[in-house]
Amino acid sequence: MGEAIHGTMRAELTCHRFRLTLLNPFTTSFGTQTERTGYIFRLSAGGVTAYSECVTSEEPFYSYEDNYTALHIITDYLSSMITDFPDPAAFLERCSMIKGHNMAKAAIEMLLWDFHCRREGVSLSSRLGRGRGYANVGVSIGMEDIPAMISKVSSAVDAGYRRIKVKIKRGMEQSIVAAVRDSFPEVPLSVDANTDYRLKDSETLGKLDRYNLEYIEQPLGHDDLLDHAKLAAQLSTPICLDESITDSSRAEQAFDIGACTVINIKPGRVAGLTESVLIARICRERGGHCWVGGMLETGIGRAFNISLAGMEDVDYPGDTSPNGRYFARDVVTNPFTMDSGRIVPNAGPGTGTVVDEDFLSSVTGQKLTIRDWDA
Ligand SMILES: [Mg+2]
Repeated sequence: MGEAIHGTMRAELTCHRFRLTLLNPFTTSFGTQTERTGYIFRLSAGGVTAYSECVTSEEPFYSYEDNYTALHIITDYLSSMITDFPDPAAFLERCSMIKGHNMAKAAIEMLLWDFHCRREGVSLSSRLGRGRGYANVGVSIGMEDIPAMISKVSSAVDAGYRRIKVKIKRGMEQSIVAAVRDSFPEVPLSVDANTDYRLKDSETLGKLDRYNLEYIEQPLGHDDLLDHAKLAAQLSTPICLDESITDSSRAEQAFDIGACTVINIKPGRVAGLTESVLIARICRERGGHCWVGGMLETGIGRAFNISLAGMEDVDYPGDTSPNGRYFARDVVTNPFTMDSGRIVPNAGPGTGTVVDEDFLSSVTGQKLTIRDWDA
């Protein structure tokens, strides 16, 4: 992949700043989200058009990155590194002097995966390899009052989701988990704290051990490994890390010190698919588990996640719901559908998404040409 493209052609990197209203507000320990705003990137050259999505949002609450920092890093640094269409791994090497900014890097890294796969006429899934043929799908349910959450869990169980995850925060963990477990004694259940606890809360979190949870996701600080290792030693419930795992070396370190046995892989958080695949392999080799998370992506970002989640190394159901769960209408004309808790990745080429350009334009506040050049 990524051999030089010869001859002169016009190339263009553009971005759409879009705004889509969520069907339902989504509440985590750091706030309530009612819409998704972000950037869709498009790379066109030689008759090939590729797309990707940056998973930042307006506020730097999940991580320090937000829409503004991502656009700055992409415009001022990353866009100049892709004028010869490097393959994704070569691109990562090129931008390695830029510290962090993984979501910005991921948007461009995944754009290159899609570009090369589309140019070669192969699907992203087959390029990633080790495919199972489908992704196992779980669901993430935001915080609401208890009756509303129970109702949502009930609908999700009926829809066939293979794992239920509920968001918790300090002081509400017992009431939420007890209520869901009482109503659904057998359902595969996990909780996500989105960094809301501290090590001194270990006794509180220990009280969740009785509920037979698959894992507790990211209870402690967003960049912590050491305290998670101490907490893991005190709990029987496995720890899953999300925010703390920013690349494959952090994944190795987390397993080395016993900070987790499960990892939520979000390509955007780890600079794209190259590192995602490495992390999935590390989880398997270390006897751990992994699954693919989500950042309320449109169909464009979602397609990358589904292809990754369809790999054999990804052994747990992910937060990879079909598009219709989040948006009344998506920016793609071929949204995913779920059958028996499974989603089949697109046949391609590339991610296989067919972008609804008219609708994308209608939800775009600003369209920017970041760079155009003779390639
Ligand atoms: Mg999480």
